[in-house]
Amino acid sequence: MTYHANEKGYYGEFGGAFIPEMLYPNCEELRSNYLRIMAEPSFQEEFHQLLKDYVGRPTPLYFAERLSEKYQTKIYLKREDLCHTGAHKVNNTIGQILMAKKLGKNRIIAETGAGQHGVATATVCALMGIQCVVYMGEIDIARQAPNVARMKMLGAEVRSALSGSRTLKDATNEAIRDWINNPVDTHYIIGSVVGPHPYPDMVARFQSVISEEIKWQLKEKEGRENPDYVVACVGGGSNAAGTYYHYLDKPEVGIIAVEAAGKGIDTTESAATSALGKVGIIHGSKSLLMQTPDGQITEPYSISAGLDYPGVGPMHAHLFTSGRGEFISVTDDEAMTAGLEISQMEGIIPAIETSHAFAIFDHRKFEKEDVIVINLSGRGDKDLQTYIDYFKL
Ligand SMILES: *Cc1c(COP(=O)(O)O)cnc(C)c1O
Repeated sequence: MTYHANEKGYYGEFGGAFIPEMLYPNCEELRSNYLRIMAEPSFQEEFHQLLKDYVGRPTPLYFAERLSEKYQTKIYLKREDLCHTGAHKVNNTIGQILMAKKLGKNRIIAETGAGQHGVATATVCALMGIQCVVYMGEIDIARQAPNVARMKMLGAEVRSALSGSRTLKDATNEAIRDWINNPVDTHYIIGSVVGPHPYPDMVARFQSVISEEIKWQLKEKEGRENPDYVVACVGGGSNAAGTYYHYLDKPEVGIIAVEAAGKGIDTTESAATSALGKVGIIHGSKSLLMQTPDGQITEPYSISAGLDYPGVGPMHAHLFTSGRGEFISVTDDEAMTAGLEISQMEGIIPAIETSHAFAIFDHRKFEKEDVIVINLSGRGDKDLQTYIDYFKL
């Protein structure tokens, strides 16, 4: 029994590649090459060199003393907020830009909702001198002006998606359309462990550097590689996949996933896919997604733009339905309160996505000798205005 993807990209019943025929050559080129390319010593060397010198890895594993004292358990924070660009997303975009180069591609496209993945993609394209087009819904462009400005500053072209609800799923549709029309020179950088095979597995492998580091860092600090629990917030699921990766098949390590309940799972404004989702196809893979009775994807809601996604990746759908992972949903209010607490107890202002993970202590008790690693997926600079408005700072 494994919780990793099989060679067809399935996690239990979830995953696969449900794509239009016209996209098949693109996905097939990637699928038939990604494992071989990733295994090449020259790829590994360049990837790890950039993670070290450009991203700033390894990120620290920090023992949060005051927080541990308050909740009477041992809490470590994996500091992905210290990565260049302020979150874990760049681990994946560095990996994928190197993949694109190996495949001989000279043009990158991406979709973005809140703009964080767009910025991480524009960053690595600038680094490599490669043309970059980012699709973004018209409404998101208006809501996320600072990230749009960052992408432009980095040299990317931001194209407005004008169809449908003019948000993330529409930007994704536009990106797929572009890829169908430009199969030879273009690589599509997907930003989370979602999309058709091989994306979920490839992105999880790039993000797995997080748990690879946790293993040796915890060994140094606690004398053992395995914590009792690993905890992460889940939007599409990439920072969580990286945090769980080397522990997936170790049943002695508990896996806790935190989703955004928005205004509450009994309201219409939520993004808690495990609580509200049903089996369906989203962005080319079989997973759990929030949908109407006739299968149309419903618009999610969360105060945190990065968790505002109507599905989860197939790894997480499998972790949920199999019972391997424990899923907790946290409301806007609980997350904001937890974010303020971490700021004032540890001197770290987290991204609002990450604040959701810190709210678990209101939902769940731990033993005094438990070792818990929480992935601090990103820093809160980008969310300052939301914190200011919420707390009337
Ligand atoms: C994008 C983002 C997330 C959510 O994406 P995942 O793929 O679920 O990791 C979480 N935290 C931060 C800081 C983000 O920027």
